[in-house]
Amino acid sequence: MFIKIDADWVKNNYIDDYTNYKNKEEVIADATRFYHEHFQQEDDYDKDFEVTTFEQAKKFWECNGYEVKERKGREYICPVCDSKNTDSSGSEIEGGYITYHYYCKDCGATYDEDFELVFSGFDNVSLSSNT
Ligand SMILES: [Zn+2]
Repeated sequence: MFIKIDADWVKNNYIDDYTNYKNKEEVIADATRFYHEHFQQEDDYDKDFEVTTFEQAKKFWECNGYEVKERKGREYICPVCDSKNTDSSGSEIEGGYITYHYYCKDCGATYDEDFELVFSGFDNVSLSSNT
């Protein structure tokens, strides 16, 4: 999983675009989309512009003030500033997913951690006894 972070966010305390990606293809496709959405008015606009590799996409986002970070599973750290000083503010189960709401005590970011619920078997099964 990859995430895109506005590099000025911590300074500005403001985030205008915050995207969670599942894979490299999404990072690449989003870079192409962003280019065509935002650079059409530029003199050197190239209508055939396309980002094709992950390295290109990373560079593209860096040039545009974003950082793409890779996240491997759950790390209990803030996705913005890497602080471990985070806390949960609750959770919700919906449609086969459980979502934990988190906030960072250092930079103030809020974020969700989503988990897919998978049935893994019965546990603690007992018959009621009348003793
Ligand atoms: Zn943080």
